[in-house]
Amino acid sequence: MLNDVEEILLSAEDIENRIKELAEKISSDYKGKELVLISVLKGSMFFTADLIRHISIPVILDFIAISSYGEATETSGVARIIKDLEENIENRHILIVEDIVDTGLTLGYLMRTLKLKNPASIKVCTLLDKPVRRILEVPIDYKGFEIEDKFVVGYGLDFLGKYRHMHFICTLKPDIIGIEGRTA
Ligand code: 5GP
Repeated sequence: MLNDVEEILLSAEDIENRIKELAEKISSDYKGKELVLISVLKGSMFFTADLIRHISIPVILDFIAISSYGEATETSGVARIIKDLEENIENRHILIVEDIVDTGLTLGYLMRTLKLKNPASIKVCTLLDKPVRRILEVPIDYKGFEIEDKFVVGYGLDFLGKYRHMHFICTLKPDIIGIEGRTA
């Protein structure tokens, strides 16, 4: 696995430190409210697990899974929910926890879908943001890191289902990503 790594962009320590800051800000912003975290599977699983453990106010956790149709390293914007929420989010304060916002199409779809359920408020927390790739403008309220236009894996993010379990976030060597991948 380590042989496949091209460059480590964010170390486990970088990630941990930033998550503590995000959790502190979220805890202070939602003080006095009950927060419902909606973790978008599978990419944000480690981010969610670490973030929620640093949040110091009452919080409910739920999961949603979306399948987006596209290539291994690109989103098409056409999506469908493959695992829906268990919580009723009507009149509740929800925070979507994403691994990465790239074109913004997936998040746009998710926000439109969740808004139909009439939450009291809806905000977004993403670990990574690739602003140069944006097609659809989406509001990001809490952001871990902005990164360049590179396809990254690790800390929950995968390539063809692999590399999620790595502690850091990195790029893969071009021969691993192959001809269908994007390296810049
Ligand atoms: P968007 O709809 O914003 O283009 O893409 C969102 C989804 O595409 C993310 O939740 C993630 O699953 C996937 N994605 C976008 N960029 C990357 C990346 O650099 N690495 C990985 N592993 N997945 C990505």
